[in-house]
Amino acid sequence: MKQKIKSAVFFVVVALLFSTTVTAQQNKDLTLYQGGEAYEVKSFTQTFKSDSPKNVVLFIGDGMGVAHFYAGLTANRGDLFIQNCKYIGFSKTYSSNRYVTDSAAGATAISTGTKTYNGAIGVGPDKNPIKTILEEASEKGLATGLVSTSSITHATPASFIAHQASRSQEEDIAADFLKTDIDVFIGGGYDFFTKREDGRNLVNELMRKGYTIERELSKIENYKGKKLAGLTAPKGNPRMSERGNMLPISTHTAIKILQQNEKGFFLMVEGSFIDSGGHGNNTVQVVEEMLDFDQAVGKALEFAAENGETLVIITADHETGGMTINDGSFETGMVKGAYTSTGHTGVMVPIFAYGPGASEFIGIMENTDIHAKIKKLLLKK
Ligand code: MG
Ligand code: ZN
Repeated sequence: MKQKIKSAVFFVVVALLFSTTVTAQQNKDLTLYQGGEAYEVKSFTQTFKSDSPKNVVLFIGDGMGVAHFYAGLTANRGDLFIQNCKYIGFSKTYSSNRYVTDSAAGATAISTGTKTYNGAIGVGPDKNPIKTILEEASEKGLATGLVSTSSITHATPASFIAHQASRSQEEDIAADFLKTDIDVFIGGGYDFFTKREDGRNLVNELMRKGYTIERELSKIENYKGKKLAGLTAPKGNPRMSERGNMLPISTHTAIKILQQNEKGFFLMVEGSFIDSGGHGNNTVQVVEEMLDFDQAVGKALEFAAENGETLVIITADHETGGMTINDGSFETGMVKGAYTSTGHTGVMVPIFAYGPGASEFIGIMENTDIHAKIKKLLLKK
């Protein structure tokens, strides 16, 4: 009898443990986005002042494949700002040494027009520096800017301004910002400017060069000058739910600063953590980051529609997660993602364009062609 009670108790305990484990797993099903609030998307004019742009805003959604884009579109009930783009193509993302690129080689291909090895920041396969589109624009007297949700010294933004053999050299990358005339940069990475092995305090050096340093989003939002370094986090910014609308606000501020230059401007804006969602097979994060990115694009499109001389390009450096979508709902915004990888994949990524020169960005192209096209349109004079 005692034995029977013992085994019955054992059975109940095991059953309880089993059921709580199953519940915990269900609660943690990050591949399912259950739907949330949607925002209103505006339609913008398709008529522009000229055929060639005076300004270019390039958006890079890190890790954004077609599925990530469509997850965002579904979550926002079938509409995204990016859908204002009528010219659409695909970009081939392979690097010089790998079929599957990383963000450093991917961004360097776009910024310099040269395919290079994974990990390279603004240098070619021989590790020699190559001038970036941002540096070329600056030399021609245009205003320039970088905005990112990650550290501003992280691979994607770094590849537009720095020249280092490895993406891990974030202190060296921070020092490269001082070698340029960039007008505005906003992202995380304060520590790489201040807590350095070489003892330099780059924030003080930036101030001596005329930059205002701001660490709070409200101050960045209300900034009225011409030279701003916004460093909103010690390293990367936190996820969407904690950082708020840092990316749309920073994009808006950057455009406000850059448009003061009569010769025009080049701005790169990165939505960094779409990639993290892909790595984590986390559809909730993919959607949150995708919607944040799209709202930043909305800020640029609003300016471009009004201004009539601004080309807005939206693309990615590579796809992350081998993501697809197995179910969804335009009524509730639900998205059921599925993944084939926790890394990057080799598939083509979409490219969308709006404004004067947008028709250049149709068809299938190399990621390096993006550099050539921007250069031809923006810097031909
Ligand atoms: Mg990145
Ligand atoms: Zn990644």
